[in-house]
Amino acid sequence: MDHELRRTRLAARLEALGVDAVLSTHLPNVRYLSGYSGSNGQMLVGAGGSRFFTDGRYTEQSRREVPDVDRVIYSTDWIKQLTAACDEIGVKRLGFEASYVTYRSHGELAKTVDTLVPLEDEVGKLRWAKDPEELALIRRAQELTDIGFAEILTKFREGMTERELALELDWAMLRAGAEAVAFDTIAAFGEQAAEPHHSPTDRALRRGDVVKLDFGAVYDGYHSDMTRTVAFGEPPDEMRKVYKIVLDAQLAGIEAVHAGATGGEADLASRSLIEAGGYGEAFSHSLGHGVGLEIHEDPSLRATSEEVLPEGTVVTVEPGIYLAGIGGVRIEDMVVVTASGCEPMPSSSKELIVL
Ligand code: ZN
Ligand code: ZN
Repeated sequence: MDHELRRTRLAARLEALGVDAVLSTHLPNVRYLSGYSGSNGQMLVGAGGSRFFTDGRYTEQSRREVPDVDRVIYSTDWIKQLTAACDEIGVKRLGFEASYVTYRSHGELAKTVDTLVPLEDEVGKLRWAKDPEELALIRRAQELTDIGFAEILTKFREGMTERELALELDWAMLRAGAEAVAFDTIAAFGEQAAEPHHSPTDRALRRGDVVKLDFGAVYDGYHSDMTRTVAFGEPPDEMRKVYKIVLDAQLAGIEAVHAGATGGEADLASRSLIEAGGYGEAFSHSLGHGVGLEIHEDPSLRATSEEVLPEGTVVTVEPGIYLAGIGGVRIEDMVVVTASGCEPMPSSSKELIVL
């Protein structure tokens, strides 16, 4: 991937931001700008040059992953090294990622840097539109997720617990080549599916349960995110009814996503169908979120989102209806935003599967 091009694009924004350099400390941003995948690193991008910082545990890894930036390996006092680098490349006004710098770090930086300028997540904004290499990695993560779903459908048996099903699903994705699961897998049986997010428990699977599965894989740092709701035996009548409403709402949400649309417009298109079906109160979260180097990233598809979706961004479309004591249905696909619409990434079916 062309990390240098990304740094150049960030450097081109410096003047407009009123800074001589940007210090990136949020690891997904550092990875995006440098290729570094370790757990401690910082990136300084200035008009006069760039520096990558890490500690001695990552000397070899950073040599391999960040070959094209001057690397500074520190033992303890990285602020001192940063100050020296700022002097070398002529940084007086240093922009930092206000959402990701702790109060303590800010205090330390303020002692040595001339002028600190808090910035919005400028690197995060560059990350909205994915390049072809990123899209290929997200597609691979999605393929592993589809493989996991196909396999898990063969594993359902009466009496197994949510924890067992979640583990089987994780194992299927990891065995297929995922480097990790994208987040803690949600497996919710029956009435437990009424919780939008749910940690798997020892609840045993019974005939007539709906089963909500929300899961994803990581491939080379990129995430996938998919939800499917299936039935183990014939589900309650209301769950069948709700499934159809959620599916229609999900398709309407997908229909509303295109380059130039706002997240709020997409949320409204989907939500209005759930409201018309009489379940508006039961759709208790926003329609979707961006996915990439992080499982949840901008842009968001929430009612109040006014920011316009760019071509190449990847977002989820995931309406749901949750009924306390009965169950819940959510259907979630990642889609790639195109000029004229969007392309759903999963190959897994969305028709109600009754096992
Ligand atoms: Zn999800
Ligand atoms: Zn999601």
